Amino acid sequence: MDCDRTVRVLILGGTTESRALAVALGAVQGIETITSLAGRVAEPILPVGRTRIGGFGGPDALAGWLRDNAIDVVVDATHPFASTIGAHAEQATREASVALLVLTRPPWTAGEGDRWTSVASLPDAASSITPGSRVFLTTGRQGVHHFASVDHSWFLVRAIDPPTGPVPPHMTLHLNRGPFDVDHEAMMLADNRIDLLITKNSGGDMTRAKLDAARAASISVIVVDRPARTGSAPTVFDIAAAVDWLTNRLRSTL
Ligand code: NAP
Repeated sequence: MDCDRTVRVLILGGTTESRALAVALGAVQGIETITSLAGRVAEPILPVGRTRIGGFGGPDALAGWLRDNAIDVVVDATHPFASTIGAHAEQATREASVALLVLTRPPWTAGEGDRWTSVASLPDAASSITPGSRVFLTTGRQGVHHFASVDHSWFLVRAIDPPTGPVPPHMTLHLNRGPFDVDHEAMMLADNRIDLLITKNSGGDMTRAKLDAARAASISVIVVDRPARTGSAPTVFDIAAAVDWLTNRLRSTL
């Protein structure tokens, strides 16, 4: 970029997209990134550029942090289910008069051959399980407690770190970090005689192989819909669009 000063971008991260954006912006002259991670994962994959880890202490504290660190733009590249930090980013950027861009993945949609049931929440997913099911639960360790009272079915729980709260009585824990390809996912389904997959509608390519494997094996899927996002921040769906938005905006304001 042709500008005299460095523009500081805070990337709210914890996703593959946030790391890819830090790499892409690292190649743009005049932009400096700081990626913020919540600190949920014991051994996170660290992005390039500067990093900070841990909550800010609420939206007002985030607004103060933006001012103290002379942030020009915030990119909310958090997971589509990380709704609290998204709302905090909206409020804090308004308070601190800082621009906000949302970078998110387009949601998955059912295609021919898919046997999906959509539900609004993890508790709704738990109450939709047919007794006697063999469930592949891929919704992340933080939500496993919602299934703790389901004693009529068996669960294969896949997560990066172990769940810390209550867990279902009949459960095998499989600790692993994606991405996984379709062959791997087909093997997980077949080896464990899975007849129900439960997933959040996270979207993106990184974790969709399980859905392709479930379709091929004609396995039922409960898909938890995304929480509705409030606020009016512009939204982009890929890294190139985010870089374009940032460079255009920064050119017009500097
Ligand atoms: P959340 O419920 O939206 O946020 C809870 C609190 O965690 C926020 O109020 C904030 O604390 C802190 N926080 C969240 N993301 C942060 C970030 N990037 N940097 C600094 N603080 C952050 O979030 P969550 O669902 O627990 O997700 C936490 C992180 O894991 C996110 O960064 C997200 O991208 C990633 N992740 C989430 C999921 C998921 O399914 N939810 C899946 C994959 C990755 P303060 O109020 O103290 O600032």
